[in-house]
Amino acid sequence: MSESIPQRPRLTVLGTGYLGATHAVSMAELGYEVLGIDVDESKITKLADGQVPFHEPGLDEMLRRNLATGRLRFTTSYAEAADFGDVHFVCVGTPQKAGSLAADMRYVESAVVSLAPHLTRKALIVGKSTVPVGTAEWVEELVAQHAPAGIGVEVAWNPEFLREGFAVEDTLRPDRLVFGVKSDWAREMLENTYKGVYELGVAEDREVPTVVTDFPTAELVKVAANSYLATKISFINAMAEVSEVAGADVTQLARAIGYDVRIGNKFLRAGVGFGGGCLPKDIRAFQARAEELGVGHALRFLSEVDQINTRRREKAVELTAELVGELAGARIGVLGATFKPNSDDVRDSPAVAVTKLLAEAGAQVTVYDPQGIDNARRALPTVAYATSSVDAIRDADAVVVLTEWEEFRHADPVALGKVVTHRRVVDGRNCLDPAEWRAAGWEYRGMGRA
Ligand code: NAD
Repeated sequence: MSESIPQRPRLTVLGTGYLGATHAVSMAELGYEVLGIDVDESKITKLADGQVPFHEPGLDEMLRRNLATGRLRFTTSYAEAADFGDVHFVCVGTPQKAGSLAADMRYVESAVVSLAPHLTRKALIVGKSTVPVGTAEWVEELVAQHAPAGIGVEVAWNPEFLREGFAVEDTLRPDRLVFGVKSDWAREMLENTYKGVYELGVAEDREVPTVVTDFPTAELVKVAANSYLATKISFINAMAEVSEVAGADVTQLARAIGYDVRIGNKFLRAGVGFGGGCLPKDIRAFQARAEELGVGHALRFLSEVDQINTRRREKAVELTAELVGELAGARIGVLGATFKPNSDDVRDSPAVAVTKLLAEAGAQVTVYDPQGIDNARRALPTVAYATSSVDAIRDADAVVVLTEWEEFRHADPVALGKVVTHRRVVDGRNCLDPAEWRAAGWEYRGMGRA
């Protein structure tokens, strides 16, 4: 059987956004020949020219290195992709559908339907995008309808767990791999596809656990993981809500419960909550899919998780209003726009949402973010943007920290205190040291800290 399985399959990556571009570059780094394809021509032109169209630490240099070897190329031609690849990774977006909780599957459909008619030999189509359970079966049907008969194209699901900001590291050194397959051929094909990842693990004396399973389990693993993470964040934020009225300090509470290894201290920081292109839309799509399957009741808690998350954004606005008295006309310096540090991603960013609420309440807001300003300006053009922390907070009546960039965590409260009108700070990420800021004369408000 293994004669028909290439030792180093040639890979295509359909959709070269945050996930796809990282995957394409990282797999080339491991020695594979990779062809990335996207319908966005400007993205492909940039990538082919050695520019990553978003901020991801380490990716730029790795892209240029692998373009130079010739192992990594980019195209907009599906015919070329079909001709080139043994394994085709589907990495297109699955955003929330307008007016619904469900995922919009049109990009997955268009990628598969664009590729399939051009295929001329046996190949494996591997879904990586985060999708509703049942998608792999549907992709199989699309392939049966659109690929030439009798060439034996197969489908597999291989969800991706990378974190923006650590995307390269997570791709080269994943915590685990999950293969949803229906045949030994598909499993062996994936094993060969990830041989480079396994070899790196062996070289570093580190295991790469692999779960080989069926389609629905593989699809569910991803949304289950994200639901768990979102729930953990909302749990500690619910504790923050209670702490606020009970006079407790949620950061000490989190530290104390986090010592219990069954709970653990990760993802237990109270603040303005989760955001980004994944967690919010994934927990919503999961609820929508569970409703369709008649088990909506099982996931009703995810609606609470979502609401707790939204309330924290409003809380940050409330704390700011408390500090300045009247938001209308107040000058607010906002530090942070991205949904988390080390990324330029502002999709469903709590920082942008809070900024918008502040501006809607009549505040004059100026925002600074180390990487996210261009994207933030597109998402929220109505506020002012600065090119440094100092410029954003100059003459401010209050400073609001909404993304825990290193630069903000280590800011000097004495120096910053000299440029503001009033030393008032809302720490929306509980990432500052209240004692240090208070000692420098600042009125400090954190999340869940009485
Ligand atoms: P993205 O919006 O950055 O990228 C999607 C890309 O797909 C875009 O460049 C778009 O032009 C392209 N595209 C759309 N239709 C296409 C088609 N027919 N053919 C080729 N390209 C097409 O999205 P992303 O953040 O990379 O997410 C992609 C998927 O990966 C989503 O399902 C997401 O949930 C999942 N995911 C993302 C992350 C992450 O950290 N961003 C992590 C794990 C999983």
